[in-house]
Amino acid sequence: MEKFSKIGIVGLGLIGGSIFKALCAGGYNVCAVSRSKNTLESAEKYSKNVSDSLETVKNCDLIFVCTPMNKTEEILDKFEEIISKETLVTDVSSLKGFLSVKKRPYKFIPSHPMAGTEFSGFENSFETLFKGAKWVLTPIDSNEQDLNKIKAIIEFLGAKPVVTTPKEHDEAVALISHMPMIVAQGIFESAKGNDLAMTLASSGFRDMTRLALSNTEMAKDMVELNSKNIETALMKLYASIGGILKEDYSSKIEEIKSAREKMYTNGKNVYPQ
Ligand code: NAP
Repeated sequence: MEKFSKIGIVGLGLIGGSIFKALCAGGYNVCAVSRSKNTLESAEKYSKNVSDSLETVKNCDLIFVCTPMNKTEEILDKFEEIISKETLVTDVSSLKGFLSVKKRPYKFIPSHPMAGTEFSGFENSFETLFKGAKWVLTPIDSNEQDLNKIKAIIEFLGAKPVVTTPKEHDEAVALISHMPMIVAQGIFESAKGNDLAMTLASSGFRDMTRLALSNTEMAKDMVELNSKNIETALMKLYASIGGILKEDYSSKIEEIKSAREKMYTNGKNVYPQ
């Protein structure tokens, strides 16, 4: 496997911190940039090469940008003055279209790990976060060799690379992540005024509304940047519910239950079988 001589991470939160911890544990030479003093102090226990200056990642041969989405473009722009054209850069943003418009003078391969929790920050990051997860890559004009290098490091992190286009990615995540998050928020909001409902709510309500606990900065970015696809996904949801209720309900729900049962094994998505 391609061994990068130095890997940089910008933004040591849930995602960046988890990549950082896994690579440090794997013996990689890792450096990192983050914003707050607390995060940097905690990260120093893993690598001495951490700071709040972007210059820290200057001589890396691979860099992960793991800041909130609304900061990612700014970091990618600053790299144009700092890193060499041979540097391989990826990001982890939950949307890919908005980062795929501008051509970069370095080797940029956008990506998105399909793993996360409702918690944020370095203190909640852990090195096994990506084990068994899918990790999307949306190469623009990269060569096969660079793509394979990124795939290899993703596999090292325990994830499975999936290559697609930015457009297809953004449409798909609206269906499986952004629209469900808004529905979870809506379900919570609908029950909120009813004291008895809130008192009786148990595990079903808890599971259905888990996505309402999403990182609020990330949720806001998702809705702003993917509004059209979310609208389409919501229309699809209304149509699906209408369809389910109109069809032979009992056979339809048997069909849905059986497909849903096959989709996950030990909590991991095994689709396609
Ligand atoms: P997070 O836990 O809030 O971490 C973001 C980190 O970025 C913060 O810890 C902050 O560091 C750092 N940061 C902010 N501005 C910075 C700057 N200008 N320079 C350097 N560091 C900066 O968020 P996250 O959940 O890891 O999300 C990060 C990215 O991953 C987002 O693009 C999101 O779309 C994507 N993503 C998230 C999930 C998920 O479920 N959470 C899943 C897949 C992808 P300090 O602590 O030092 O302030």
